[in-house]
Amino acid sequence: MFMDDTMLAATRRPPIISHLGIRRYAERPPKPTARGTAMRYSSAYGCERALGYAAVGFAPSNPMGEGDAGAAFFGTLVHEDTQEAILATFAGVEVEVPSEDANATISGSADGLISVTNFPDYVSTIGGTHILWELKTMGEYAFDKQVGFNRRSNAVREGTGPARKAIAQAGMNALNIMRERPGVVIDHLVLGSICTSPLSVAKSRAMRVDGIDRLVAEYWIPRDLWEPLAMAEVARMAQIANDVGHGYLPDRIVVDDDGETRVILDPQSHRGAPWQCDYCSYRDTCVADGPGVVRILESRGMES
Ligand code: SF4
Repeated sequence: MFMDDTMLAATRRPPIISHLGIRRYAERPPKPTARGTAMRYSSAYGCERALGYAAVGFAPSNPMGEGDAGAAFFGTLVHEDTQEAILATFAGVEVEVPSEDANATISGSADGLISVTNFPDYVSTIGGTHILWELKTMGEYAFDKQVGFNRRSNAVREGTGPARKAIAQAGMNALNIMRERPGVVIDHLVLGSICTSPLSVAKSRAMRVDGIDRLVAEYWIPRDLWEPLAMAEVARMAQIANDVGHGYLPDRIVVDDDGETRVILDPQSHRGAPWQCDYCSYRDTCVADGPGVVRILESRGMES
């Protein structure tokens, strides 16, 4: 029987089977912070107002739906498999290593803490006793920006390297693991990236990119680069906790990826909402509360 694309396209139906793993993932109760603290390292460079809502414990006005859960679903599967492989490969490895800051305000878990003795060829240049490893899965846009791929023109240019917020997140964890565990010294963070959309064989040939480089990048970040970013972010989160402790929700401010510029967000901007607001679990509450600093007792979130 002759079959054209139109006939095949017409066989599409709303999913009743294939999405069930994602649905189950989306229906999981929100993950508590690693140590039950008000904030988490993974919110590094996040919107201060949103961090404030979470710290107060308001219920999300816009909880994650199935469509939003896809990226986190893939990321969790990749993390679990990669961590299993790391445990089977190296000695002296811990995965999901928790820590918290000195004020018990921020916590999180490192993807991996690995003894430097596993890397005898590099041990003199790595320094310290351990490396802290963090993995990010990402789509084509973020990965290509980081490594410099230009798929349209089949070129590889200089990339931007990993996002500073990822460095700050891992760095906060490293600082507090060292604080909690005398004897552990972390000089290097190792930030891994896995792209969910690898370069095709034809593109990799044209761009002269081989093997695992088609979808994986790894960055070894020395302490003099990561520590200042981590310390600045610990201080910013401490200020948010202080505001909340005094009964106020902060303004709608994020740190740009240069790590310094503070940007005020407007979820109702006539140019379109910033991406942070598109993905924010407190969007309706924030819109109702309006801009500026808000008294917690006057927030719409008190009605939730
Ligand atoms: S909607 Fe935007 S400005 Fe408001 S809390 Fe969320 S991220 Fe911040």
